[in-house]
Amino acid sequence: MHRIGFHISVAQGFLKVFDDAKTLGANCCQIFTHSPRSWAFNVVSEDIGKLFKIAYEKNNIKPIVVHDSYLPNLASKDCTIRDKSIDSIKKELISCNRMGIKFLNIHPGSHKGQNKKEGLKQICESLNSIEDYVGDVTLLFENTSGMGYVLGSTFEELKYLLDNTNFQCGVTLDTCHLFTSGYDISNSDALENTLSNFDKTVGLECLKIIHLNDSQGEFNSKKDRHEHIGLGNIGQEGFKAIVNHEYLKNIPMIMETPVNEKRGDKENITFLKGMIKT
Ligand SMILES: [Zn+2]
Ligand SMILES: [Zn+2]
Repeated sequence: MHRIGFHISVAQGFLKVFDDAKTLGANCCQIFTHSPRSWAFNVVSEDIGKLFKIAYEKNNIKPIVVHDSYLPNLASKDCTIRDKSIDSIKKELISCNRMGIKFLNIHPGSHKGQNKKEGLKQICESLNSIEDYVGDVTLLFENTSGMGYVLGSTFEELKYLLDNTNFQCGVTLDTCHLFTSGYDISNSDALENTLSNFDKTVGLECLKIIHLNDSQGEFNSKKDRHEHIGLGNIGQEGFKAIVNHEYLKNIPMIMETPVNEKRGDKENITFLKGMIKT
């Protein structure tokens, strides 16, 4: 059975996530544990963690993924930023553990004009400095659109991160980021090509989560602008191939699509489910 869901807001409390997901017709989801634009945040308390864990076990909304906030940059040359970033990831890991969440999705980082290799090395060193953490969370490196100095837009870079980090790691592939970083997935043949490239370079078994977003940006444009499923440049043919793909259909798919006058979440999930061949 497909696992399809959304990024869901926890603004009204963590426990509401389960009902919100069900209302949308989702059976998996992604959350932030705090405001993603703030450095100052608390670890989820043990009490809330316990309650969440019980609800998580009881409800068929699985998996739930935590997305880290937007501010951390593990590749930063600036020690203050790097230390804050490491601290922030540590706190997310503790929250995940308390809540029984097994996946923490992170954006690898930005090298801000130093060279790529240095930036990638810095990310691994930053993560490897988290020594005192013992838990059972898989860290997922999300592929990026390759805009500016952002790292992690190529399969080779993702492979480097996986190989040089002493963590239980995996990969999230975001379909919008794939397409705008230059990996075509807009039809069945292109998708096969891209997946075989990923398999050879990284290994399909490392793919744990798919972020399912169409793209406002054109192919290889390095733009990170999400669009409703089927209405962007990846288009309906691409998503039909993705959602019916023999291997991919067993990977949880989480939409981070916009909510606007064109469509909301309900319309996107209905549209997507309508494309699944039974
Ligand atoms: Zn994403
Ligand atoms: Zn994005």
